[in-house]
Amino acid sequence: MLAHNALADEPARLAALARLAILDTPREEPFDNVVRLVRSVLGVPISAVTLVDKDRQWFKAIDGLDATETPRSESFCAYAIQQDTPMLIPDARLDTRVADYPSVTEDPFVRSYAGVPLVTADGYNVGALCAVDTRPREFTDGEMDILRNFARIVVNEMELRRIADRDQLTGALTRRGFLEKVNHEIARCRRHGRTASLALIDVDRFKTVNDTWGHPAGDKVLRELASTLERIGRSGDILGRVGGEEFAILLPETGVPEALAAVERFRAAIAALPIAIGLSQTIAVTASFGVAMLDDTITVAEEWLALADVPLYAAKRLGRNRCEMA
Ligand code: GH3
Ligand code: MG
Ligand code: MG
Repeated sequence: MLAHNALADEPARLAALARLAILDTPREEPFDNVVRLVRSVLGVPISAVTLVDKDRQWFKAIDGLDATETPRSESFCAYAIQQDTPMLIPDARLDTRVADYPSVTEDPFVRSYAGVPLVTADGYNVGALCAVDTRPREFTDGEMDILRNFARIVVNEMELRRIADRDQLTGALTRRGFLEKVNHEIARCRRHGRTASLALIDVDRFKTVNDTWGHPAGDKVLRELASTLERIGRSGDILGRVGGEEFAILLPETGVPEALAAVERFRAAIAALPIAIGLSQTIAVTASFGVAMLDDTITVAEEWLALADVPLYAAKRLGRNRCEMA
């Protein structure tokens, strides 16, 4: 499928995994259903959807074992992703790759394993769907067919959840997807004592753009605005379309002065952007920005957005095309 060997290109594989934006997300029913079904159909005590990250394997779903992740160096699935066929281990004690793993020598005393790589549309093995037993056993061709089909369902679900979080017009995260990311960032900052800022962006006099140039022209403005924000932002910044002509950017690891500097760059880039309308016409738009740093009063994403809405409103009142801080 690919010109180069996708199995050997670890940086590209990790990038494919990052694009799925699934690591450390909460449990989701479609994945829980699959591992439950694998358990009952194959008659195994443990099944998991494993994603193999740089130094760990993280479980998107797991049934039969209480765990969220393990080091990559103790992962069966880390071997499964190195091949493009299913991996079978009938007796873990006899396989030198895994015989010393804590999961083999201690509780839950894994004895057999069947894993099917999770292959993305662009050909990367991001993880595996596995069935694990605490007694040595073979897996039949029929059972492996079932596991392969379930693995296909898992990959489809991963692609679908990504598409569902993307706004069709601009490619930015939807409001739902963005709020999920922000909640995640709030938890991360609390855990590690980090800081972050959030900018709310509202296009100035956008109704006039629509009224003068038509709704399709307005749509084009929104698309170009989003791609400008993506281009100017840092790689860790997260862009969401949180309303009709309102965007928000989450700026991880960013305190007040840096956030203001970043937002000022966004503002200037938008104001300087010529947007082609029709064959010979270009128009310019501006946007107003409200910025709020994460503080102790914020527990959920909506509160953070509400906090940034106050300076946004001030920016509008003070004449638009400007940035204000909470
Ligand atoms: P202000 O500077 O105060 O923000 O003025 P405004 O005209 O931008 O504010 P207002 O909220 O009154 O108008 C927002 C407009 O955005 C109204 C709505 O029709 C338009 N809009 C919302 N979503 C879309 C969209 O997806 N495409 C287009 N073309 N227009 C949209
Ligand atoms: Mg608005
Ligand atoms: Mg507006």
